[in-house]
Amino acid sequence: MFASVGRRLALLNALVVVGIIALVTTASFALVRQTLTRELDRELADRAVTLADRWASDLATGRHPALVTAANQAERRDGTDRHVGDELLEGGDTLVYILDNQGQTLQATRDVFYPDLPSASGVHAALDGASDARAATIDGVPLRVVTLPIRVGDRLVGVVQVARGTQQVTNQLRLIAWASVATVGLGILIAVPAGLFLAGRAMRPIRTAFGRQRAFVADASHELRTPLAVIRANTELAQRLLPPKSEVRDELESVIGEIDQMSRLVDDLLFLARVDAGAARRGQEQLDLAAIVRGATEPMRGLAEKAGLTLTVDAAGALPVRGDADQMRRVVRILIDNAIRYTPAGGSIAVRAGSAEGRATVRVRDTGVGIAPEDQERVFERFFRSDAARSRATGGVGLGLPIARTIVQEAGGRIGLTSQPGHGTEFWFTLPLAAAPALAEAASRSSVEQIAEPR
Ligand code: ADP
Repeated sequence: MFASVGRRLALLNALVVVGIIALVTTASFALVRQTLTRELDRELADRAVTLADRWASDLATGRHPALVTAANQAERRDGTDRHVGDELLEGGDTLVYILDNQGQTLQATRDVFYPDLPSASGVHAALDGASDARAATIDGVPLRVVTLPIRVGDRLVGVVQVARGTQQVTNQLRLIAWASVATVGLGILIAVPAGLFLAGRAMRPIRTAFGRQRAFVADASHELRTPLAVIRANTELAQRLLPPKSEVRDELESVIGEIDQMSRLVDDLLFLARVDAGAARRGQEQLDLAAIVRGATEPMRGLAEKAGLTLTVDAAGALPVRGDADQMRRVVRILIDNAIRYTPAGGSIAVRAGSAEGRATVRVRDTGVGIAPEDQERVFERFFRSDAARSRATGGVGLGLPIARTIVQEAGGRIGLTSQPGHGTEFWFTLPLAAAPALAEAASRSSVEQIAEPR
């Protein structure tokens, strides 16, 4: 139990650590991307300002820069220039375009043009007098494009557009992404063992306290057994010494009944305390579950008859499983005992033992009061008794099924139930078969044996 709580804590710890790392990494990634993009825009803007200044001063001093005609532009959109352009873009070079105040391109870096470059929207913004920075993609290469108006005095004389591939930014971001993945991986590698270690340490005092509690229950139960046995013996003696028709004798009879009930409770508590402490692990010898079912059912016949119930058993052949014979008998008795107690007179109880797919299964079906769906999981909890059961005079304290489940699970099996309130319940448990399936198949070919009839 502690191990699984520890594992869950460690997992939770790892999840929280990894979650925090992932969150911080994502935020830093976004921040770095924004910073790098801004940096690039600033560099491009610096370049554009220098170019705009130079162009403006050339114009102002009457120098005329070489012109690029529109016809040339069309030609240069393909062929070698395009190739040069790709190299420029991918190599992280800066492409520069100078346009006049009509949006006509006057100059371009190495005469490289694209259908989308110079970017028309950037140019329009600059012609309206605004500085513009935007992202663009040319032939799958992502770019930043910065466009500025060129002014001589107050007059807008043209536009300069500067573009550069964001390859460098992308490369740096890729590096950061890999570093982030590595950090998260490392986080997991460190957080899981660290979490397990911390959970183990944190659990130590709880485990000690729990151990003491278990030891206390075991000791107290053990110490109670002897005085109970002495009280019982003395009460019986006193009863024998009294005249047969005495009223006190009847009182003592019910006292003995109460003592027996209490002894059973103490035994059950002791058993569970020992199992919890890991001390009750009995031998796992090979045994015949069918024979155990037959043997355990036989003594219940009287009880079933007394309750006005039909008890049938179908458990012929052999069902070899591994476990402790006494404990398996106890499981079968608990299930039949419950079936008898929670089935009104006139009902029936069918006990079946068989095998399928390498497992031996025992089923105890009754036509009794049934169990409400919300209680079906809870009946295996210690001291749980349904409201219906509480209101009945019969019944124990709610330790029968928890004990049955403990025994079955210790033997590597499973236990469960299906129930329809008001119609009946079927409890089942399965154990792995210990021998060749042929033997088990033979075991499942069985006959119904009537061992109790209602009066
Ligand atoms: P108890 O000693 O009270 O029978 P158990 O652990 O054996 O304790 O059973 C727990 C509860 O499960 C019972 O109080 C009863 O409410 C319910 N229960 C068990 N077996 C049956 C059954 N065959 N039919 C209906 N209810 C059942």
